[in-house]
Formats: sequence, C-alpha cells, structure tokens
Amino acid sequence: MEKKKELQVAALENGTVIDHIPNDQLFKVVSLLGIKKSTTPVTIGYGLDSKKMGKKGIIKIADKFFKADEIDRISLIAPSSQLNIIRDYEVVEKKLVGLPDELVGIVKCNNPKCITNNEPMRTRFQVIDKENVTLKCHYCEMKTKKEDVIIQ
Ligand SMILES: [Zn+2]
Repeated sequence: MEKKKELQVAALENGTVIDHIPNDQLFKVVSLLGIKKSTTPVTIGYGLDSKKMGKKGIIKIADKFFKADEIDRISLIAPSSQLNIIRDYEVVEKKLVGLPDELVGIVKCNNPKCITNNEPMRTRFQVIDKENVTLKCHYCEMKTKKEDVIIQ
C-alpha cells in the first residue's frame, strides 16, 4: 500500500508536489497557477485514490518552488492541500497550505466604492474565519464569503 502511494508522486528530481487537492478543485488550482504557461514539465493526477479523501488530485511541477503569494492563492481554493518540496529526489519539506491571517494583493474587494477599487493600491484582507473562509477588507471592512471571492 505504501509502495503504491509513493509511485503516484515518484520521479521528480527537483520541484514541488501539491498533494491532497480536493478532486473537484484540481482544475481550478491548475488554472489559478497558470500551469499552461509553465516552461518545466507538469504532471497532473486526477481522481487518485486517497484513504483520507476518497479521491484526490495531485500536481507535480518540476523545478518549481512556490512563493508565499502563490501559496496564498492555493490556500483560498484548497487550504487542506499539502506541499511537498523535492530536492534531489527526496522530500525535504512537507507543509500544509493553510489559510494565512492576512491576504495582501490577492483578492479583489467586492465593494465598488472601496478605495482599493478606485486607487492604484494593493488590497488587504483579514481572514476572520479560516474554516468557512470569510475575509474582511482592511479598508472598507466589507466581508467576503468563500463563494464571492474573486482572485485577482
Ligand atoms: Zn474594501
């Protein structure tokens, strides 16, 4: 069983594996990360067996190490997914994506009167409910729920 699980994420010399992506969110994550434009090989696994989740998705990207703002983007769609950092065929770091306390320059404020929609400035949101994903604009204090989140 352990062997089979390893095979699903094998053969990446250097790069990042995004594991435990909810199956129905996989292609959202793919499009959000701009993977079509990737210049290095990407392997996308859909509908893989997972003991925890039933079915899951995986994305393996060669020679790619995510920056904090990219991880924040993933966190809005698939906070329970896990990043495995691979160097020289070894997993050197595993981390849960998780939602941060604050999102800067990632989400659009849905209030047309908000200063961030009228001035050239970065948006800033506090994550006030990590479980259900509710964000509060730092400037106009309008709350945005998960289903209304627009990622910039
Ligand atoms: Zn606002």
